[in-house]
Amino acid sequence: MSTTPVNVHRSIQVKSIVLHRVRIPFIEPFRISNGTVTEKDSILTEVVTADGVSGWGEASPMSGSFYSSDTPDSSWCTLTERLIPFLLERPRIEPHRFYEALREVPGDAFAKAGLEGALWDAYAKTEQTSLCDLFGVTRCAVASGVAIGIFDSIEELIQRVRHFVDQGYQRVKVKIQPQWDIEIVAAIRQHFPSLSLIVDANAAYTIADKAIFCELDQFDLMMIEQPLAADAFGEAGELQHYLKTPLCADESADSLAALDRLVKQNAARIVNIKVQRVGGLGEALLMLKAARSSGLGCWVGTMPELGVASSQGLHLAMHSGFSFPTDIEASTRWYVDDVVAPLIEVDANGFIHVPLGAGTGFKVLREKVERHSAGEARFVA
Ligand SMILES: [Mg+2]
Repeated sequence: MSTTPVNVHRSIQVKSIVLHRVRIPFIEPFRISNGTVTEKDSILTEVVTADGVSGWGEASPMSGSFYSSDTPDSSWCTLTERLIPFLLERPRIEPHRFYEALREVPGDAFAKAGLEGALWDAYAKTEQTSLCDLFGVTRCAVASGVAIGIFDSIEELIQRVRHFVDQGYQRVKVKIQPQWDIEIVAAIRQHFPSLSLIVDANAAYTIADKAIFCELDQFDLMMIEQPLAADAFGEAGELQHYLKTPLCADESADSLAALDRLVKQNAARIVNIKVQRVGGLGEALLMLKAARSSGLGCWVGTMPELGVASSQGLHLAMHSGFSFPTDIEASTRWYVDDVVAPLIEVDANGFIHVPLGAGTGFKVLREKVERHSAGEARFVA
């Protein structure tokens, strides 16, 4: 089995775990081709070690089951009934190898990502080092792009695109669905001829819609994300054959096995690696290594997530294997009140600078976790 390329040499002992369910309203609803969410319903995982160090992670599926079958309720059940008892049975844990143990429990990638993220954070804080150091990654600023949902009118969409371009984001991703595709892309191109632009269909089309993608192919898009169903590998390969624009796999790329099928069927030239969807940082590092060795371009996506998971995603996104801007955005892009300090910010040139400090460099503010609390559960070894 391949191993995660990291600088981890010791193990940690977990004494207790606290789950914090939080609900934080979005600044604007997030509408994609198959549903809308208005708040972030997230599970913050706090692991406390025998040395008294708290490590934080986040299980962050989308509410409703329209991105994947994982939801906040299903992740909560998996964590409380299966994963936490499974972890607490182990006297000592090496965070970079914990993904191997997690593979013994099939499914539930988002819950696994939440628990594993807390272990990485606890380890980095124990060693007084940063997460990117554990990944063997040189610290750098992370190029950020913005993701924009579906609106009622093209005018509203253009206004939102302009708003975020003015803020400095390095590229824009817009959600598309049937009847909200060619016309909106043409309008964006008319207003922003040289904008780095991605469209994301969230699997809303079939190969019968090939003509739509052939038209979109004329707009100099950076990529077309997940045009077809997650398991339509053969059809995606057929579609890619007709297009000069690279296809990007999101929902399709949920495991190393899926990545292998993508490569074999030429179903994508780029992979959006989401820590949540693949089950944690360890799996994400392995996906990056496998994708790059197969010649695929890579970048770090998000659900979006609160500052806890986003900050961990930023440390991953510093890896030189990623060659497109991340979807991780400023805290205030989505949330009325993110739980980390400092807030994640994007500079005028579209870069996110990660603060120095042990772990992610961002602190979780307990008063905010309590202010937005929707439940708590405690477990002791
Ligand atoms: Mg996507």
